[in-house]
Amino acid sequence: MSETARGNRSSSHLGGWWREIGVLGVALIISLIAAWLVWAPGGGTGYGMAPAAVDVPAVSISYVDPVPRLPTPDAGVLSRLLGLPPMFEEYERTLHRESGPFTIAPPRPRDGVIRYTVQEGDTVFSIAERFGLSPDSIFWANREELQHDVHMLRVGVELNILPVDGVYHTVVGSQTVQEIADMYGVDPYDIIDSEFNDLQDASPDTELEDGMRVVVPGGVSDYADWTWNPVVHVSSSSAPAPSTSGEAGEAPPPPPPNTINFAPGEPGNCGPIPFGRSGTGAFQLPVDSYRITQGFYPWHPGVDLAGEEGMPVRAADNGVVIYAGWSTWGYGNFIVLSHTPAWTSYYAHLSAIYVGCGQQVSAGQVIGAMGTTGRSSGPHLHFELRFNNVPVNPFDYLPL
Ligand SMILES: [Zn+2]
Repeated sequence: MSETARGNRSSSHLGGWWREIGVLGVALIISLIAAWLVWAPGGGTGYGMAPAAVDVPAVSISYVDPVPRLPTPDAGVLSRLLGLPPMFEEYERTLHRESGPFTIAPPRPRDGVIRYTVQEGDTVFSIAERFGLSPDSIFWANREELQHDVHMLRVGVELNILPVDGVYHTVVGSQTVQEIADMYGVDPYDIIDSEFNDLQDASPDTELEDGMRVVVPGGVSDYADWTWNPVVHVSSSSAPAPSTSGEAGEAPPPPPPNTINFAPGEPGNCGPIPFGRSGTGAFQLPVDSYRITQGFYPWHPGVDLAGEEGMPVRAADNGVVIYAGWSTWGYGNFIVLSHTPAWTSYYAHLSAIYVGCGQQVSAGQVIGAMGTTGRSSGPHLHFELRFNNVPVNPFDYLPL
């Protein structure tokens, strides 16, 4: 009885144990299944413990290298803990790459003077921008190549591109380093110490060889030695009367007529022409549409307004024709108008001239056609405004 009872007790005790094992086993299996269900979808990414990664809104980044998608903001910390490549560096690197086409690459430091062949559409300004230099530096490094005239910039011309802003000097005769430094307002050791010159053993008194070219970092040159300045004879009754050395009582000479004689000796010279006095004092654009290919600079006394061959060229203001014809200094077919005793306007490189000497024209009147005659690399109007024969920036006076 007691055995039975004990046995029963034992068996019943044994049965409860197995039941417990069974319950635990089932629970374990359920847990495993549950765990598998939860873990499995993320297993392939390597960041499976964050299933939310799958649902993170996609960041529009195109990775160049195969890297995991960006799952959560914690991914950087996580990847560092796991010793994986930091994703944010990759992120930045990728963004940087993507931004490439939209930014101008910073100019790389150049080791020395390089040669650049002018391409279609280039201007001194666009070349300067491309190499991170001032337009002056482009001009000052290429006076000989451009024959002192920016209109000599043509496709195929080889230019010197300095490694830094400054002047590219050609030694004439025997010049010392000091003399060259004085020409361009720099210290002689700016030239001697420059890594772009092979002058480390030189002193300020060292004479350099004729024809040698020297980079003058930071040098500033002059402009005026080449700018074309036509001879203009102005005679005016308001000008000071010629000195009379004669005896008192002698009648003063009659006042000269108010005339302007622009560039005597040139083919289009009109001879003395009465001043223009009809100018309104306000200028208008001489073309109906344009693209600026050269701006006003001390070495470019006007603006180049590019357009189609044959486009109408209009008088910038009321005036009188004081020059009409060919020019020998590179302006091709050329018109000059006088608007007031002080103001003149120049129209160069024309394909046709529709006005004649002494003719009165009104503002906006078509006086010629755009062309590419003379020193010109394509159809454009070289337009100048001069006040008392000094070029001024037309865009200071023209409506934009
Ligand atoms: Zn020009």
